Amino acid sequence: MAAPHPETWLRVTPSGLYCEPGDFFVDPKQPVDRAVITHGHSDHARPGNAHVLATPETLAIMRQRYGNDAGGSLQEMRYGETVTISTVSVKLCPAGHVLGSAQAVLEYQDSRVVVSGDYKRRRDPTCAPFEPQPCDVFITEATFGLPVFRHPPDRHEIDRLLHSLHLYRERCQLVGVYALGKCQRVIALLREAGYDAPIYLHGALAGLCELYEQHGVALGLLLPATGATKAELAGKIVLAPPGATADRWSRRLPDPVSALASGWMRVKQRAKARGVELPLVISDHADWDELTQTLVDVGAPEVWVTHGNEEALVHYATGIGLKARALALFGYEDEEE
Ligand SMILES: [Zn+2]
Ligand SMILES: [Zn+2]
Repeated sequence: MAAPHPETWLRVTPSGLYCEPGDFFVDPKQPVDRAVITHGHSDHARPGNAHVLATPETLAIMRQRYGNDAGGSLQEMRYGETVTISTVSVKLCPAGHVLGSAQAVLEYQDSRVVVSGDYKRRRDPTCAPFEPQPCDVFITEATFGLPVFRHPPDRHEIDRLLHSLHLYRERCQLVGVYALGKCQRVIALLREAGYDAPIYLHGALAGLCELYEQHGVALGLLLPATGATKAELAGKIVLAPPGATADRWSRRLPDPVSALASGWMRVKQRAKARGVELPLVISDHADWDELTQTLVDVGAPEVWVTHGNEEALVHYATGIGLKARALALFGYEDEEE
């Protein structure tokens, strides 16, 4: 008997991607009975599901963010482990996006689909690297799915930040970073570049930095920015959520150089509109080259493209002989970009 086509057992519903024979959702947008969660960003990991299956790191992030609302029962699954939900086998593999991020590998009657969640391919000192998994259908994000998006090497962007720091001794560098992933990655990259002075944090970033450290990601000396004097912060790096860089909170800082670490900083108008003096193109999503390389590495004959610029990637995939279509999944507005 031929394997069933994935379209017959995995479909888009208003609550999100639904696996019928397993009766579970992947990254549901509304509370459901059974959820498989790819990673901790709030557009993928929502509170209130009755049963949640995710990596231990993702569950720790959800517990920190949602407390008792993280889910009725939380089931840990390490990378590479397999769990069977009625007749469907589920395995989680690293996605290289943030700590604990996973691709969900679903298999039903010899038909195999990979739901990659969000991912990137470049090295990240704060999480396990993406592992291509053979499959019949590969579901890919396309946040930066246009050829114009080519992220420079991280080191290049970190060196620009350090250069600005040396240039303005009496000012501080105020870097806008998303709390989960980007913050810890920027810190780890600074440490790798040899920067060993204390890094100052907005209060909203402290909890997840602690969680990363508990999971073995060393971040060096971190101090609260609140309470530090202007003199102490001169010539230092201060990290804050992107919203805080423009508001009252930042007035306590010594003439801050406003920076923002995001893949969108590749778009000059965006940086300008947000008043960013020092745009740093550091992204936790695959750029165009990483997306197209991944289609080749995974080698699936069929690709479903979701949240982002679906059209260009569908066109590219078709051009290299794959079957491809856009998947109409809405409601994933990336917290981190
Ligand atoms: Zn994400
Ligand atoms: Zn996403």
